[in-house]
Amino acid sequence: MTLQAPSSAAQAKGTRQDPLGFRPLLSLLKRYWFSKPLLLTFCTSLLLLSVGADVIVPLAAGEVVDQIVRSSKTGINPHGAYQALCLFAATSTCSFLTRHARTHLWNGLATYNMSALLNDIFGRVQRFSAEWYANTFAGATVRKITRGKWAYDAISDITWIHFLELSLVVCGITGVMLYRFPRVGLMFVGTVLVYVVLSGLVALRYVRPANVQAAEADSAIGAYLADTITNNATVKTFGAEDREAKRFSKVVSHWSNRALISWNRGSRMSAMQQALWVVLQFGTILLLIHEAAQGQASPGDITFALTANFQLGGQLRSVGDHIRQLQRATSEFSDLVEFHEQPVEQPLPKNCRPFNVPTGAIEFDSITFAYQPEVPPLYQNLDLRIRPGERVALVGPTGSGKSTLVKLVQRLYDLNEGSIRIDGQDIAKICPSDLRRQIAVVPQDPLLFHRSLRDNIAYGNPEASKAEVALAARRAHASEFIERLPYGYDTLVGERGVKLSGGERQRVAIARAFLANAPIVIFDEATSSLDNITEKYIKSAMDDLMQGRTTIVIAHRLSTVSDVDRILVFDSGKIVEQGPHHELIRLPHGRYRALHAQAT
Ligand code: ADP
Ligand code: MG
Repeated sequence: MTLQAPSSAAQAKGTRQDPLGFRPLLSLLKRYWFSKPLLLTFCTSLLLLSVGADVIVPLAAGEVVDQIVRSSKTGINPHGAYQALCLFAATSTCSFLTRHARTHLWNGLATYNMSALLNDIFGRVQRFSAEWYANTFAGATVRKITRGKWAYDAISDITWIHFLELSLVVCGITGVMLYRFPRVGLMFVGTVLVYVVLSGLVALRYVRPANVQAAEADSAIGAYLADTITNNATVKTFGAEDREAKRFSKVVSHWSNRALISWNRGSRMSAMQQALWVVLQFGTILLLIHEAAQGQASPGDITFALTANFQLGGQLRSVGDHIRQLQRATSEFSDLVEFHEQPVEQPLPKNCRPFNVPTGAIEFDSITFAYQPEVPPLYQNLDLRIRPGERVALVGPTGSGKSTLVKLVQRLYDLNEGSIRIDGQDIAKICPSDLRRQIAVVPQDPLLFHRSLRDNIAYGNPEASKAEVALAARRAHASEFIERLPYGYDTLVGERGVKLSGGERQRVAIARAFLANAPIVIFDEATSSLDNITEKYIKSAMDDLMQGRTTIVIAHRLSTVSDVDRILVFDSGKIVEQGPHHELIRLPHGRYRALHAQAT
């Protein structure tokens, strides 16, 4: 546990402060690579076959030349050359066919694994804590997940196909070289080793750090775009387009500097690789000429060496690109590794106790809670008992701890001490999703999915029929405006529900709560922003929804709480007064009485 706040950049972007090591990255990759071991083995065997054929091709080419030379010396029919040509054609065809078959199987494996990866990561990210969501840009998360998926694909292709193929071809060809021309072979092995080791070192020590910085700058662009585009209404209100454009151009210019450094380092690395390759080719051919001059190598041998060299050249040339792509992909994939290491809300579904709420009694048993360990606790040894079916209102100044209490009942945060029990069951031992399904929340500013109104209302109970949805809408007084819309319940509401007014969204949220039919209902009441008629509708819908359920209302307007069973007055995380309206209003120096006097 650290007492130091994370840097503001890390706080805002939700980026890691320590780069994750290689081990967790590899372990996540392995989980998907080996998801279908038989298929993987089959793909790898096909790869081995095609590489075997690739190594024979230059040998066959050499044999063709040798046979032609021999027949031109002896003057007999070049039968041997035709035979060698057949071998050449057969191995080339084998190489092509096995490669094609392998690609087909590999495509299937890759899409299967990418789907599994996406589903797993989405499942985890959905279960990250409310605190994590409060500290993370949605846009950055979206980008990380989509980029991570492609990064997995790139890493798999490069390691399993390109690098494996390259190392097998290198081993095959150097093996043949070492056997036929030991001196040439040795030089070949030496240069290839130098080539690979130097490329790897330069890639990891010189190019990778620049790549990581460029990727972070790239994420910052995504996060900035998402943040300003989501807040476009605010930007418009303040006529701040130019201001935002200026700030954005700074983020972009930071990225362009980083990207330039990273790309330039990459192209310097390619130049170095090309130079090494020229040395390798030049040296091999020089040595072969030397061997031929001494009668140690035939024209066919030279043909073999040249063909093999060209073949290998094609593969080695792309090594630089592949190493760079691999670096970029690993740094992008680390974001998914980070998601994978990030703890999800406990307990995990498999350890959950069954949960049922026959009456809806809520007990806070001496709870202590602080948002951060370094700040004093908001609640200290707070006790509170809410009876089944009781309607309780929380009032008090902003920041006094009304909303937090509700978040704790939903277990969006864990307590430092004490426990919260619903019908005698400690909520810390219940699966968060089971718990929350028993609590219907009508938030202050409800957000809707960009789906139809019907789907949005049925979110409270996806099994509900059309008639049930319509009934819930009627009870929430939402049918009044829905039925006036040209597409009625099929209307799409826009991202986050922007096409509806605040009051309309709130009525949709109440309709959802009716359908959810949960024994506990929580309103973060926002009637303050509504006109009188809408407020009347919502008040009547709320009263209807409260019937027979334990209810907590966070009251922003005291006029709306006069008929609840008990009012709790909060101040700095303490309950300073409680009782029904008619009692509290009579206390001579009461807090509630003072608040009430202010409000009217
Ligand atoms: P209320 O609903 O009564 O206005 P809250 O329960 O929202 O008050 O907040 C109580 C205190 O907790 C405030 O001081 C607020 O700044 C702080 N707080 C709320 N949410 C967070 C959070 N996610 N992280 C840290 N502090 C928070
Ligand atoms: Mg609040």
